[in-house]
Amino acid sequence: MLDKVLIANRGEIALRILRACKELGIKTVAVHSKIDADLKHVKLADEAVCIGPNPSPQSYLNVPALISAMEITGAQAVHPGYGFLAENADFAEQVENSGFVFVGPTADVIRVMGDKVAAIKAMKAAGVPTVPGSDGPLSNDPVQLKATALKIGYPVIIKAAAGGGGRGMRVVENEQSLINSIAITKTEAAAAFGDGTVYMEKFLQNPRHVEVQILSDGQGHAIHLGDRDCSLQRRHQKVIEEAPAPGIPEDARQAVFESCVNACIQINYRGAGTFEFLYENGHFYFIEMNTRVQVEHPVSEMITGVDIVKEQLLIASGRELSFTQEQIIFRGHSFECRINAEDPVTFMPQPGTINAYHAPGGNGVRVDSHIYNGYRVPPNYDSLIGKIITYGRDRQSALSRMRNALDEMVIDGIKTNIDLHAELVTDEAFIKGGVNIHYLEKKLGL
Ligand code: ADP
Repeated sequence: MLDKVLIANRGEIALRILRACKELGIKTVAVHSKIDADLKHVKLADEAVCIGPNPSPQSYLNVPALISAMEITGAQAVHPGYGFLAENADFAEQVENSGFVFVGPTADVIRVMGDKVAAIKAMKAAGVPTVPGSDGPLSNDPVQLKATALKIGYPVIIKAAAGGGGRGMRVVENEQSLINSIAITKTEAAAAFGDGTVYMEKFLQNPRHVEVQILSDGQGHAIHLGDRDCSLQRRHQKVIEEAPAPGIPEDARQAVFESCVNACIQINYRGAGTFEFLYENGHFYFIEMNTRVQVEHPVSEMITGVDIVKEQLLIASGRELSFTQEQIIFRGHSFECRINAEDPVTFMPQPGTINAYHAPGGNGVRVDSHIYNGYRVPPNYDSLIGKIITYGRDRQSALSRMRNALDEMVIDGIKTNIDLHAELVTDEAFIKGGVNIHYLEKKLGL
């Protein structure tokens, strides 16, 4: 078992990782930027190291500072959380080359999955259903490009192989704008990601975002923890997630679960991971794999009883999976609302001091958050300040618990999106279930 783990992250996920380590009897090292010295997990960790000034390139993305902190504190492993260096193959490689354990897949696997063209190729080969597309990078030959688009059928979407965070994509409606759009996306991708490789996919008009959580030990065992629906998005950022995804035929779900598990075994995947799909008219289409723990992992934990972060740590310790697929019992329904420090109308981040905080509670209510009375939300990082997760025997009871929880939550001093959530959980179409990825933006009039 690992003896000491360094948590290379901040905020709610750092606290989440700290709690899992404590449960497993693993000592913890918190690292933080100057402004983050008062983070809750920093106070609770066995040791804390300030790794640099506030801008993340100088602190949370500062690889030499992180490796030094591991050396100084004698940490054996690093848990990257999500964001920051979580999907950085070079970081994972440096960690392992320095003799430490990276809590996650091998650098090679992260690298393949970080290149969407390579990821799609690998998944297709492993039997995972993909979006009809160019099956590889686009050439510079206009005749060939037009033929590819015609074969796929308009509208198509041009995507950067190195893209992420919903950036580096452009929809093309017809042949007139095809060549120009490809050129612009290439230029943008080269500027934003340092790699101008782009590919083409069929643009699905009204899909849902449905993803599959997996755990795989890299020793021949893999399981799935069911699906999550994350269709409620604004600018490709998830707002509310739920598990299981409502209204999907059981045979389609089971088939996609099986293909994900098989793919994990084929690529010898190690750790927790998520297969992201677009779902339309009964079909799943793979879009990407995330090789880390996700913000929305708690909804899967609620319906399976599996602690995903603890499993990550156990796998990193070299243990085999604690569960077989047969031992995973899916029960009930769960929702997660992401609470952001942001203006409810303009969605601009709202840093500032929280002068009153009351967390909701009660049966089936979980709050994953690092905030407290007097906590100052810094302007330097993501605006996520917490998550409310509810559980119920069925979708309706999980949803009514979410309504109560949102009603009970008080955060004074800064603006948050609590009211937006309160509105969404009383929305008729959302209550019915199965809205598509455009629903929220349409509702907001965007
Ligand atoms: P990122 O890594 O930037 O999140 P994804 O490939 O996961 O990129 O796509 C992000 C979002 O873009 C999807 O959730 C979906 O809303 C939209 N999208 C991506 N590919 C397609 C497609 N082929 N058809 C329709 N929408 C798409």
